[in-house]
Amino acid sequence: LLIFAGDPLTVLPKLIEQYNVEHVFRSLHPACEEQQQWQWLRDNHDQLPNPQSIQWHELDNLSLINQHDISKLTHIDIEQRHANPALQEFIPSFSKFRRLVETAIKKQHFIIDNPLTEQYTLPKPVALSPNNYSSLAEHCVNDIDTALELQFSDNDSATEEVFYGGEKSALKHLKHYFSDQRAHQYKNVRNALGGWENSTKFSAWLANGSLSARQVIAALHNFEQQHERSDSSYWIFFEILWREYFYWYALIYQHRLFRFSGIDNRRPLSSFYPDRFKCWTNGNTPYPLVNACMTQLNQTGYMSNRGRQIVASCLVNELQLDWRYGAAYFETQLIDYDPSSNWGNWQYLAGVGADPRSKDPKSIHADGRHFDLTKQQQRFDPKGEYIKQWLGSDASVQASESLIDTIDANGWPIQ
Ligand SMILES: Cc1cc2nc3c(=O)[nH]c(=O)nc-3n(C[C@H](O)[C@H](O)[C@H](O)COP(=O)(O)OP(=O)(O)OC[C@H]3O[C@@H](n4cnc5c(N)ncnc54)[C@H](O)[C@@H]3O)c2cc1C
Repeated sequence: LLIFAGDPLTVLPKLIEQYNVEHVFRSLHPACEEQQQWQWLRDNHDQLPNPQSIQWHELDNLSLINQHDISKLTHIDIEQRHANPALQEFIPSFSKFRRLVETAIKKQHFIIDNPLTEQYTLPKPVALSPNNYSSLAEHCVNDIDTALELQFSDNDSATEEVFYGGEKSALKHLKHYFSDQRAHQYKNVRNALGGWENSTKFSAWLANGSLSARQVIAALHNFEQQHERSDSSYWIFFEILWREYFYWYALIYQHRLFRFSGIDNRRPLSSFYPDRFKCWTNGNTPYPLVNACMTQLNQTGYMSNRGRQIVASCLVNELQLDWRYGAAYFETQLIDYDPSSNWGNWQYLAGVGADPRSKDPKSIHADGRHFDLTKQQQRFDPKGEYIKQWLGSDASVQASESLIDTIDANGWPIQ
């Protein structure tokens, strides 16, 4: 394995030229920046020697459903999606998408591809010595641990509550997760704010490609064959379908995934208040639960799904901030950052995305999903244990002393 760090548009042409590469493969990354990079490489490769001999292959191995089947399901010709991107519309709600997928599977219109077995693994690469890199030397990463600040596990204990990088750790964790009855409890506990065991923790490995959604579903089916299927084990599939929904959503909507007015051109009533944003990122708002969640994120790079919903709702509703700043901050912090899931979920919570209820002016969700912070705390942290874990015991006092604004409308300091 050769690892190079740098702009792919600089490194890849050099690599192709130096080794007379004839086949270039990559996974289909749905978000617009990654799409543009791939397109640029394909459009500009005629400056390389023997451009006509290069073949470009984009594989849909990050998703559960393949391109062909998703085209049939959505009636969108995914391969021709560049033809008129501004007019493309994806299935308007997750519920509808889920029903379509489940019906299609039941009627055997398509099946979810099994992950490839060992026998399909690639042959060993040709031996390349670092001396051959010449023009690539500055991008070559020999010491990956230092360069990427990754930790690799050499400990065989599968119960560690830490995200270790790499496929081996991912597969070890997958095996461990389905080795007992946890999947039968998943639905009851997945909303907990803390606790390693309460959700699958597959997200970081899924996001960086160490684990595929197809591997997760194959392991889940295997578990269900051995231990029966339950409503709870099914819910893991349900959640993976959310990931799938946002994956294709990002591919169809491209730039609209990052737009303030979202996919429908509905501009939310919000602005940007730097002080409020700083309070939120630092976990220093008047809301202890939000502060605890943000502290966990800042210290570990992870936050539960419920926590993400709560802090996003707070940023949009209580702090009335532009949702894109929250999404961009998550992008810098999350260990499982994934463009489609992150920006898709933020749009949903800000009321500019895939939530049909937010488009009905009479709906209580007309302004997105507003979580009542007091009720959330009563329901998900009734004894204040989660808050105490991340903020210590005087968290409520500190929070009550925090102000949303430190300057008034005329720009004068409030305190
Ligand atoms: C504002 C916000 C931002 C988010 N940003 C990201 C992100 O950058 N990367 C990311 O992977 N997930 C993101 N999520 C989704 C979800 O919070 C995480 O996938 C989940 O918390 C990861 O923990 P887990 O693997 O234990 O999840 P589990 O509850 O065990 O779920 C199993 C898998 O299902 C998928 N999944 C679960 N919930 C969702 C969801 N709401 N949307 C999409 N996929 C889901 C994930 O792949 C997850 O690993 C975000 C959610 C919100 C509300």
